[in-house]
Amino acid sequence: MSLLIKNVMLDGQKRNILVRDGRFVCLDAADGAEAGEVLNAEGCAILPAFYNTHTHAAMTLLRGYGDDNPLHVWLEEYVWPYESKMTAADIRRGSELAVREMIASGTVFFNDMYFEIDETMDVVEQQGIRAAIGVTVMENHPAALRDEKAARIRAWRDSPSLSLVVAPHSVYTVGRETFISSTRLARENGRRIHIHLCETEKEVRDCVAQTGLTPVRYLDSIGILGPDVIAAHCVHVDKEEWDILAERGVTVSHCPCSNMKLGSGRFPYELAIASGVRITLGTDGCSSNNNLDLREEMKFAALLAKVNGDAELLSAPQILQWATRNGAEAFGYDTGVVEEGKLADAILVSLDSPKMQPCHNLISNWVYAADSSCIKHVICNGKILL
Ligand SMILES: [Zn+2]
Repeated sequence: MSLLIKNVMLDGQKRNILVRDGRFVCLDAADGAEAGEVLNAEGCAILPAFYNTHTHAAMTLLRGYGDDNPLHVWLEEYVWPYESKMTAADIRRGSELAVREMIASGTVFFNDMYFEIDETMDVVEQQGIRAAIGVTVMENHPAALRDEKAARIRAWRDSPSLSLVVAPHSVYTVGRETFISSTRLARENGRRIHIHLCETEKEVRDCVAQTGLTPVRYLDSIGILGPDVIAAHCVHVDKEEWDILAERGVTVSHCPCSNMKLGSGRFPYELAIASGVRITLGTDGCSSNNNLDLREEMKFAALLAKVNGDAELLSAPQILQWATRNGAEAFGYDTGVVEEGKLADAILVSLDSPKMQPCHNLISNWVYAADSSCIKHVICNGKILL
C-alpha cells in the first residue's frame, strides 16, 4: 500500500512525499514515483497530526448541557443524572460524533476514559484512527464488574490502532487498595495507567484531610507513579511535586479549555516546564470544553501561559510539540513529526486560506491564526481519513 502526496510544502519547499506501508519513506520523491494512490496537495503544507491524551469521547452527547454552573452543581444535577440513563447505543452515537469531529480537526489518536468501551472501540476501528481505551476503575463498581474488567485486561492484546489502558479514575473516586490493585494489574499486563490528578483545589484539600498528603505525594507513597502513567490536568501541583512527577517519568495531559471553563485554575506552566516532565495536550470531554479541537487547545494553552506577563513562555513550536510528538511518544507511537521512517500521520493545511496568509511563519499561523476549516486532508497510518 503506497501513497504519493504531490506538490506539498514542507520546510519551505514544494515536495513529493512517498508513503509506503504506513510510513514516510521519502520526503523528496520524484514526480513520477510509483504509488497506488496519488494525492495532489498543491497549495497545502504538511504538518504533524494531533494526539489527544485525555478525553471522554462519548461525552459529545453532553455538549452544552448544564453549562456555566459550579463544578458540583454541574456534576450532581446535570452530568451524573444524564450519564445514568445512557445506553450502549448512546455511547456508540456519542463516540461516532466524537471521532468524526476529531478527524475533521486533525486528531488521529485519543486516550479515552469512559464506559461501554466495546462501542467506542468498534467506532475507532471502523473510522481508521488510533485510540487508547481506558477500562475505568471506580470504587463504587460492583465486584462482578471489577472481575469482568480484570479478565478483559488479562486477555487483551493491542493492535496497531487500539490499545487498552487501565483507568483508576482519581484519588477521590478510587480508594487506596483499589488504586494499588488496579495499578498492579495494569503493570502485570503491560498496560498504561490513565488518571485524573490535581484537577481542583478541593481534590487536593480533601486528599490532605483523608491521607495527610497531597494527591501527588499520596500516589507516590503507594507506588502508583511511573513512566506508564498519564495524569490529566495537574493544575494544583507544587514545585516539589512537579519534580516528583518528572523523576517518575509521568506524562501530563494538560487540558486548558476544560480547566478554564470549569474554573479549576491556571496550569502552572512555569513549574511544569522547568521540571522537564513530558507534557501533552488533551481536550477533556465535550461537556467541559465544549469541543475536541486540539488546534484550539494549542492556542488557549499558549495564551494562558503568557497571561501572567511572560510572552516568551510556551512558544508556538513548543506547544505544537506538546500536541503532536509528545502525545505520540507517550503512547509508544513512533511519529508526531514528518520525517522519513516515521509512521505517516499528518495534516494537510491549505495555505490559500485567508487565515494562513501572509505566511511569515507557518507554525505561528497554525497555532495562533488558523482554525480547523484550514485543514484539507488528514492522514493516519498512511491512509487518507479526510
Ligand atoms: Zn477528564
